[in-house]
Amino acid sequence: MNELILIKLGEIALKGLNRRDFETALVKNIKYRISSLGGFKVKIAQSTVYVTPENEYSDVDEVEERIKKVFGIAAYSRAARAEKDMESIKAAAAEYLKDELESCETFKVEAKRSDKKFPLKSPEICRELGGSLLEKFPHLKVDVHNPQITVNVEIRDFGAYIHGDAKKGAGGIPVGTGGKAAILISGGIDSPVAAYMMAKRGVELTAVHFASPPYTSERAEQKVRRLLEIVSGYSGRMIMYTVPFARIQEEIQEKCPEELFTIIMRRFMMQISQKIAEEHGCAALITGESLGQVASQTIGAIACTDEACTMPVFRPLIGMDKEEIITIARKIDTFETSIEPYEDCCTVFTPKHPRTRPILKYVKAAQNELDCDALIAQALDNLKVTKIGFDLYKGS
Ligand code: ATP
Ligand code: MG
Repeated sequence: MNELILIKLGEIALKGLNRRDFETALVKNIKYRISSLGGFKVKIAQSTVYVTPENEYSDVDEVEERIKKVFGIAAYSRAARAEKDMESIKAAAAEYLKDELESCETFKVEAKRSDKKFPLKSPEICRELGGSLLEKFPHLKVDVHNPQITVNVEIRDFGAYIHGDAKKGAGGIPVGTGGKAAILISGGIDSPVAAYMMAKRGVELTAVHFASPPYTSERAEQKVRRLLEIVSGYSGRMIMYTVPFARIQEEIQEKCPEELFTIIMRRFMMQISQKIAEEHGCAALITGESLGQVASQTIGAIACTDEACTMPVFRPLIGMDKEEIITIARKIDTFETSIEPYEDCCTVFTPKHPRTRPILKYVKAAQNELDCDALIAQALDNLKVTKIGFDLYKGS
């Protein structure tokens, strides 16, 4: 049986002028995500992407797993290809959907004829194929309103394709079409979800993680890497920059009022992240903040943090409850890793009474007590670079 995967484009089908770019990006992303599996052809025609195995050893199940996570796909179906004549179509449908048809009681046939040269019109295709299936599976009944399975036939330029109900794709728009941004990633629950959400809107990611050895351990950093590996299943590969942060935190602790510790630390994070972002072609920052979740996430605190950088800062979780965030974390499979108990650089130095309404001029005055430029330059000189998601896709 000639099995392949047919992919229907999502939102991108609507995007008039940009459509070509979006389609090109989607095809590139699909090719890349399945490249390590080998033996597949990917092409696009009539707003449908065809992923076709080149030989019988190609692992269609694994391709499906990967395609499920590619943004820009509204729906996909595993389908059988038949010649464009009714006898081949009937035989292929009965063979390919045998198990489903045997286990269902009701069905209907839907036909789509994009190749207008095909001699039968859609209602005639439905009638003929429906009749043939009723003969081969006499227990079946037709139910046009509420069938247990819909047998779809698509008559296209390269052949006739038969499939059952389509499956929902990952939605969103193809990664890369929305530019590039730097995600500030901790080992917590929120920032991996924020990364996923922006990748869904087509944003390519670069990751920045602040680590504070010896206060934080190598294993805490490994956990962040593992989280990003999971996210990269959706976003594609990325580079992670680990920033040594202990020195800056020690300086703040020593020289700034305790109640402003967190806010000043967060300003440093934004400043350093912006520098890394600029260096690597990112036009925005992303954080996992949610309004009111902790003292540093009040409107006043966020205003003080934002003032430290000029790039737009995306906070896709800003209006979400923790429960809603956790639901997504479970769906994308980061939750179990996020709750592993390793310390984060933020928690190591948490003040007892952080200010929830910091006043910008005092915050800036306190921060200016430090030699900020030198501290930032030193941190940037000692970045660690880690490749994320490269093994998963390339020649592994
Ligand atoms: P998360 O679950 O993402 O850790 P959180 O609720 O614990 O978030 P905070 O610790 O206040 O909140 O951090 C807010 C945001 O700041 C995080 O979502 C993340 O974007 C960024 N951030 C926090 N710690 C780090 C870190 N060590 N490295 C990089 N970014 C960080
Ligand atoms: Mg955190």
